[in-house]
Amino acid sequence: MIPPGGTIGILGGGQLGRMLALAAAQLGYRTHVYAPEAEQPAADVATLATRAGFEDEAALAAFADAVDVVTCEFENVPASSLALLAARVPVRPGARAFAIAQDRLAEKAFVTSLGGTPAPHAAVDDRATLEAALSALGTPAILKTRRLGYDGKGQVRIATPADAPGALAALGGTDLVLEALVPFTSEFSILVARGLDGSEAHYPPIANRHEGGILAESVAPALGIPTAHVEEATALVIRIADALDYVGVLACEFFETAHGALFNEMAPRVHNSGHWTIEGAETSQFEQHIRAIAGLPLGSPAMQAPMAIMRNILGASVRDAHAVLADPHAHLHLYGKREAAPGRKMGHVTFLRA
Ligand code: AMP
Repeated sequence: MIPPGGTIGILGGGQLGRMLALAAAQLGYRTHVYAPEAEQPAADVATLATRAGFEDEAALAAFADAVDVVTCEFENVPASSLALLAARVPVRPGARAFAIAQDRLAEKAFVTSLGGTPAPHAAVDDRATLEAALSALGTPAILKTRRLGYDGKGQVRIATPADAPGALAALGGTDLVLEALVPFTSEFSILVARGLDGSEAHYPPIANRHEGGILAESVAPALGIPTAHVEEATALVIRIADALDYVGVLACEFFETAHGALFNEMAPRVHNSGHWTIEGAETSQFEQHIRAIAGLPLGSPAMQAPMAIMRNILGASVRDAHAVLADPHAHLHLYGKREAAPGRKMGHVTFLRA
């Protein structure tokens, strides 16, 4: 257990780290953010910040020695960096969750071994394996990089076989996975927190609407999904967390179909679709994550209102973001980013509904 006044190390400097640092402060912890970028929304609200690359072994070692526990706010921290840190300080969740979540193919195999069902898919490493995958799965399909994809980046739709060579070239030609395009009726996510003692708390299912591969809006609870599908998906996420001896918040995304919920992907961290929990749940996902990694009891995930709606503020629309405050019930969160690039997550706003 990390005593009050202890220091939580956060790898990554984005908005998830920022909201983790705010939750940690409320619980009496100091935070130390480690990230390579010049602009770090998390560092603005943390106690300490180190700007260094994930391959900088001396900086990583100094960081590890300055904190009581390390957690990550993004999933692409190199395995070697996590191993170096873990030799000096507890890293929660642990390296195995990252190894799996960093590789779409390994992730699908792991989830299948636990009884989950991902979209039909096949590994693609060259033109021949792509042609074989396309004849097995048909079109339309989506070709994705196995690693380092996010917010719809690193993926190309293949409408007809004629699109295949262009898609292959666009994604580097190897280390890819082809997925059948799932005719989903909706997308939802399940967020589970698992404590150091193995206790578990889960939030209601969250309906997610994406625009151009980027999350636009989340609504909790997701309505219209058969209870059996929600229960199966939640049980699967708990099995994943148990199998990894996971500590912290784990998010999994699902495609809802007539035949059940298909597993899409997991994130070994707090998740954009859980931002509504700051006002909409008794214990936010950020506080829950800090409690878990600090060895504290988990809080109640119960909702504070019948419905919560979270909208992302993307790109230049941040300039008029304050207009939403004309509604006294709007809960606005801005991340303090200076560059409003198109599609960049600049903030979010949450509304609770009776
Ligand atoms: P991902 O980064 O893999 O979660 O993909 C981003 C978004 O693209 C998803 O949330 C879906 O809206 C869409 N998408 C990805 N894979 C598929 C698929 N196999 N079938 C249908 N839509 C997909």
